[in-house]
Amino acid sequence: MIRAILFDLDNTLLDRCSGFHEFAQRFAGKYADVPQNQRLRWIERLIELDEDGYKNKPQLFRELPEQLPCRNHAGWEELYAFYEREYVQCATPMCGAKELLAALRPYYRLGIVTNGVDRIQRGKIGIAGIEKWFESIVVSESAGIKKPHPDIFSQALRELGVSPVETLYVGDHPLNDIQGAYFSGMKSVWLKRAQPWPDEAPALPDAVITELAQLPAAIRIVSGQTAASERRLSSGA
Ligand SMILES: [Mg+2]
Repeated sequence: MIRAILFDLDNTLLDRCSGFHEFAQRFAGKYADVPQNQRLRWIERLIELDEDGYKNKPQLFRELPEQLPCRNHAGWEELYAFYEREYVQCATPMCGAKELLAALRPYYRLGIVTNGVDRIQRGKIGIAGIEKWFESIVVSESAGIKKPHPDIFSQALRELGVSPVETLYVGDHPLNDIQGAYFSGMKSVWLKRAQPWPDEAPALPDAVITELAQLPAAIRIVSGQTAASERRLSSGA
C-alpha cells in the first residue's frame, strides 16, 4: 500500500523553465550589453548555457562574460550573487501543483528530495508557497549526498517513517529521479518534461505522466500493482 509520496522539486513541483526564464529577463535587464533588438537572443543563449538547470552555477557565471557581452559588473561573483538573490524570487509552482498537494495531503505523507544548494532550494519552496504540505524536505547540499544515490532517499524515508515499498517517487529526471527511486526500492512516476529518456537507463518508471493533474490516476495504477503483488506474496504465488 502506498503511504507516502516523495517529489523532485525543479521541473516537477516548480516550473523551473518559467522561473529561470523570468530570472534571465531580470538578469538581461541589468547586465546584457547588447542593443534592444538583440536582447531576446542574449536571453535565449543564457537559457541554453544553463543546460536545463544542470550546469554548475558558479561555473556558468564564471564563463558567462566570455560567452555573452555583460556590462558593468565587478566579476563573476557579482553575477552569481545576483543569480542567488533574484532566481529564488522567480520560483513558480508547476501548473496544478498546489491543488494536487492539497488533495494528496489528507491521504499521504509527503516529502521533497532535491539536488541543489540549501538556501536556494528552500528559498524557492518558500516563495512558491508549497512548504506547508511537506513533512520532510531533503536538499543534497545539507544531506551531503546527491540523487541518484539511495542514501538521500533513505533520509527522507526515515523522516517520514515509511519503507521504500510504501513510497512512490515523482520526478522528471530519468537518472536522478527514476533510476534513483528504482535502486532505492520505490515505485516511480516519470513526469515527462524537457529531459529525454536515455537509451541506457536500466529501470523503467511504473507510470508516465505529462502534467501533474494526471498524477492521481497514476497513483491508482501504481497502487493497484502494489496491491496485486501484495496479494501474490500473501498467497505464496
Ligand atoms: Mg527535476
